[in-house]
Amino acid sequence: MNITPTYHGSCFCGSVLFTVTQEPALAAYCHCQSCRHWSGGPISAFTLWQPDTVLVTQGQSNIRHYNKTPGSTRKWCKCCGGHLFTEHPDMGLIDVPVAVLKDFPFEPVLHVNYQESVLRVIDGLPKMKDLPQEAGGSGALLAE
Ligand SMILES: [Zn+2]
Ligand SMILES: [Zn+2]
Repeated sequence: MNITPTYHGSCFCGSVLFTVTQEPALAAYCHCQSCRHWSGGPISAFTLWQPDTVLVTQGQSNIRHYNKTPGSTRKWCKCCGGHLFTEHPDMGLIDVPVAVLKDFPFEPVLHVNYQESVLRVIDGLPKMKDLPQEAGGSGALLAE
């Protein structure tokens, strides 16, 4: 029997609940200025998922969204202001921050946008200057 893994996510107050199933297309760290500004932290630990694997199970009417750019629809809870996830329609993927997932086995494989880093991380993982080529970046690597 095949059991599809399901992980539970929520906003800060818990009024919005969602699930992600299967495995993420990518698990990594982003150092870009947008991620830092939106998250309030020096680095974003994120996962990317196919849109049909992300399902809101409670509190849909509490979800608000904000688009600074057309490429990122940032969703958050109107009750607590807590972040939920960010839709990237150009990429066809949804970015779920690891911090909103419960018991998710985060296994990052690389760092992206390291040229914008304000906090160096010496963990032996590849450090991409911007993004991988398949995501429209240069694919160039930087030293840690
Ligand atoms: Zn909330
Ligand atoms: Zn970023």
